[in-house]
Amino acid sequence: MTTTISPLIAGNWKMNGTRASLDELSVLASMLTTGEAPRAIVVVCPPATIVAAAARQGATAGIQIGGQDCHTEGSGAHTGDIAAGMLADAGAQYVIIGHSERRAEHGETNDQVRLKAVAAIAAGLKPIICVGETEAQRDSGQAESVVAGQLAGSVPDAAENHEVNIAYEPIWAIGTGRTPSNEEIAAMHACIRQALVDRFGDKGLSIRILYGGSLKPQNAREILAVENVNGGLVGGASLLAKDFYTIISAV
Ligand code: PEP
Repeated sequence: MTTTISPLIAGNWKMNGTRASLDELSVLASMLTTGEAPRAIVVVCPPATIVAAAARQGATAGIQIGGQDCHTEGSGAHTGDIAAGMLADAGAQYVIIGHSERRAEHGETNDQVRLKAVAAIAAGLKPIICVGETEAQRDSGQAESVVAGQLAGSVPDAAENHEVNIAYEPIWAIGTGRTPSNEEIAAMHACIRQALVDRFGDKGLSIRILYGGSLKPQNAREILAVENVNGGLVGGASLLAKDFYTIISAV
């Protein structure tokens, strides 16, 4: 891990969680306050319905809260959507943008993802922009070019002077229990770092690059130690406080 970048571990609860799940957040909060102080910024991204309650509950333990998506517009006739400003108003500091599940299920394009990131920044949120290749793309040797294209299209110019985080999430590793080898992770994160430096100069050296995809208590320590891995985006293993805490403690 690049030591000059403060690491961040974010949990993506996806479409899991009701008010009852806040009990799990309480367990995490007490682990974080009674155990050794975490070396990572801790972010939990619950469903939008409990963002406000989670923000209130997480605050005492320094847990920051994120949304899982936001609209490109600040307000208007967009039934069912959530504006970045609404997430901020509910107490969120971060927002996941362009998760592969949204790209696949909602047809989100790089352009839309970039505009969402711009909207998030305008609302004072810190975007976590997801990129990653499919298994077929990796097998055909296109992984790096696909990710480079996603970065070029999804990361806004505003990353030069605002906090933007990148999450490299190979789609074939999400929720499957499979992960790339440490060498493959290192190679992809080095490519992403180079692309950020080529575009943003020295600022590109300080943009966090998270790894996501079947990050678990069992593999967290070695994956989080890979060069240019500045933290993780955790799906399934963030739902149980004990597992998520173990991953946080692996930093
Ligand atoms: C994710 O969906 O962002 C993710 C990393 O999921 P999982 O950890 O369950 O693979």
